[in-house]
Amino acid sequence: MKKAKIAVIGSASMDLVVSSQKRPQAGETVLGDSFKTIPGGKGANQAVAAARLGADVFMIGRVGDDSYGTNILENFKRNRVSTDYVEPVTGVETGTAHIILAEGDNSIVVVKGANEYVTPAYVEKAVPLISTCDLVMIQQEVPEETVEYVASICKELGIPLLLNPAPARELSERVLEQATYITPNEHESEILFDGLPVSEALKRFPNKLILTEGAKGVRYFNGESEILVPAFPVKVVDTTGAGDTFNGAFGTAIAEGKRMEESLQFANLAASISVTGLGAQSGIPMRAEVERRLA
Ligand code: ADP
Repeated sequence: MKKAKIAVIGSASMDLVVSSQKRPQAGETVLGDSFKTIPGGKGANQAVAAARLGADVFMIGRVGDDSYGTNILENFKRNRVSTDYVEPVTGVETGTAHIILAEGDNSIVVVKGANEYVTPAYVEKAVPLISTCDLVMIQQEVPEETVEYVASICKELGIPLLLNPAPARELSERVLEQATYITPNEHESEILFDGLPVSEALKRFPNKLILTEGAKGVRYFNGESEILVPAFPVKVVDTTGAGDTFNGAFGTAIAEGKRMEESLQFANLAASISVTGLGAQSGIPMRAEVERRLA
């Protein structure tokens, strides 16, 4: 079978994860138990997911000219994601997330860094590539104008666009119309549709709006009725990145020409498997594993 060709326009960051018994108060110093640097960012996670799940993936993003940027580029290459359109920004740091795991909860400070440089003008240079893709994927860790620009060029070029509206922020009616698929979780959907009941929001966007509901699975309206595609029961280890695996997998299946319900089953299974592993990217399964379990 021909591989699907996907461009992912989005963030690439380094997660700096400290775990400690106690969370420091203002002015306090505590000793931690461990420290890890883990490549993340929603764009990068979704690109890696799509590549492991069988697509030819081109990342369109930016890193800083620092060692985190170098590590992120190496991580893309290990996962067979093309970095031809990941240009380091001179004199700017790579985006980072500073995560403290303590007392059974996390606290996070995000610094956007080079991700702010994924501008419409930067993406414009990749239009020749984009116009040859089966699907474009984007999230909201890049500037709002970039999401608007990408939605209009995809519409103009007739390339399907999968918009994962995370993290939550409001979207213009125009972008909602222009996107082909929109995949909020429950929290993002509330912000997107200003508390409108879920069933009404789904009806407004048949075969486009796909609501992910964690362990329950996903819901959409097929033009006639509301369909729930259930997730697979698993032993949960870490749900970080479940949505990213879901999007990478769904995008891959849809770009291959699979139908909606089959694509959602494939994505649910990939995302369910991903929550049985620790970390956003390390739990993302390979295509063969998903197919073996679907069989
Ligand atoms: P996000 O990670 O963006 O908050 P969700 O929590 O809705 O998104 O999860 C996305 C998808 O991941 C779900 O639709 C489902 O397929 C899978 N998933 C998430 N949590 C679980 C779980 N506890 N058990 C099985 N699958 C899960």
